[in-house]
Order: sequence, then structure tokens, then C-alpha cells
Amino acid sequence: ESKKQLIKENIRAYNDFPKPGIVFRDVFSILQNPELFSILRELLTFSAKSFEVKPDVIVGLDSRGFLFATLVALDLQVPFVPIRKKGKLPGPTKAASYTLEYGTDALEISTDAIGKGQNALIIDDLLGTGGTLQTACNLVKEVGGNISGCLLVIELKELNGKSKINYPVQSLVQY
Ligand code: 5GP
Repeated sequence: ESKKQLIKENIRAYNDFPKPGIVFRDVFSILQNPELFSILRELLTFSAKSFEVKPDVIVGLDSRGFLFATLVALDLQVPFVPIRKKGKLPGPTKAASYTLEYGTDALEISTDAIGKGQNALIIDDLLGTGGTLQTACNLVKEVGGNISGCLLVIELKELNGKSKINYPVQSLVQY
């Protein structure tokens, strides 16, 4: 818990970014300090191992989710699979559009990235309204995967994103 507190204290907040009224929580402030980044990695991997259904693959969300999902995939020695913004992935893909805290976007996954019935743990930096994560869950299911759960560095409690997700969700720090 003291490690989580340390991470929370060191995530810098920017007011009115990228739009007036938005408080942007910048996880890159943790990556600037290797000691804090190591602690964050340890916390994420520990949480990833605690899901009841053990993940066969780690899914990272474009783009900050990649920073954390790849570390956890290596620590667990399981494959890393990216979900990307539409138009970035080669080969056959499935896409879905969604609304986020500011604006709309579309996400895409490779149709052959996850084996039928494989258990996926989805990792991103932040849970806001939950639209991004919900879309990612739908895409994993669409290509035949199961969902072990979702893991976030940050959860913005007042946006109630967890209510959109019908799978176990863990976050390390909450605001
Ligand atoms: P949601 O779809 O849950 O509303 O928004 C989550 C997505 O938006 C995440 O992929 C996250 O990277 C991005 N996002 C929204 N607000 C913030 C923020 O304050 N800080 C960071 N780092 N990402 C944010």
C-alpha cells in the first residue's frame, strides 16, 4: 500500500489539458524516474498474477497501455498483443468505434492474435468513462478470446467506468 501511495503522489496532474475542465493525469512522470518505474512494474506484475483466471496473453491498449503491458507480458512470460487505433495494424483485423472522455475514436485488433478460448488480461494506463476498455473487451471477445480481467494504473472513480465492465477490474491508484 505504501508503494501504491508513492506512485499516486508522483503522478503529475495537469489542469485544462487537452481541453478546459479536464485534469490530465500524466503517467509519464513515473517513467522519468527508474526507481518509481520499477516499483510500478512490480505492482502491476503482482496484480496481474492475482487474477483468478490466469492470463495466457497480455493485451495492451494504444498507446500508453503498451508501456505497461509489455513489461507484464515479459514478467509473466506470455505473449503481448496490441489493440491499436484504427488503421495501424497490418493483416486481417476487427474494428470497433467508441466515445472517450474527450472525442471519439476506433480501436482495432488482429483477428489471429488471440487463440480461441485463450484468457486475456487487458492493460491500460487509465480508466475514465470506461468506453475504451469496454471496446477493448468487446474486440477480444470478437476474435474468440476470454477475458481474465482488466488492469489499470489509474482509475478516475467519479467517472464510474468500472460499471461498464463485466469482468474483474483492478487499478493501482484511484482519484
Ligand atoms: P475512457 O475511455 O475510460 O474514458 O478513457 C480512457 C482512455 O483515455 C485511456 O486509454 C487513457 O489513456 C486516456 N485518458 C483519458 N484521460 C486521461 C488522463 O487524464 N491521463 C491519461 N494518461 N490518459 C487519459
